[in-house]
Parts: sequence; structure tokens; C-alpha cells
Amino acid sequence: MLSLVDVSKSKENSEREKAYWNSFHCQNRIISSKNRIYGKYCKNRFCTVCSAIRKAEIINRYYPILQTWEEP
Ligand SMILES: [Zn+2]
Repeated sequence: MLSLVDVSKSKENSEREKAYWNSFHCQNRIISSKNRIYGKYCKNRFCTVCSAIRKAEIINRYYPILQTWEEP
């Protein structure tokens, strides 16, 4: 992510640079309360944590329909 920040700095794309920094700081603070942990997600598509969560949500959304297919 730091390399992407450097690239966006060299191309003077401040909007992208801010998004890359948000991904760099994704889940850097975790709060635990009542045996659960909470954190703030950046929700950028180039963040590995957030894209994995997005992929799981999409699979869960499409899976009931795929189950009805005979040969998915
Ligand atoms: Zn993220």
C-alpha cells in the first residue's frame, strides 16, 4: 500500500492517495467489548481485508439462487 501511495504522490492524484492511506490504516485500531471486537473498515476495492469481506457477502447473496440450479 505504501508503494501505491508513492505512485499516487508522483502522479499528484491526491484523491487516490487519501484512499490508499485509508486502506493502509484499515483495521489498525480494534476495540474489544463484551467478548467481541470492533474496527473501522476502509471499504476500498484494493484493500485485501475489505475485498475478502465483500466477496463473502456476494457469495452469500448469490448462493440461494445457485442452489436451485441443476448444474451450476
Ligand atoms: Zn479495508
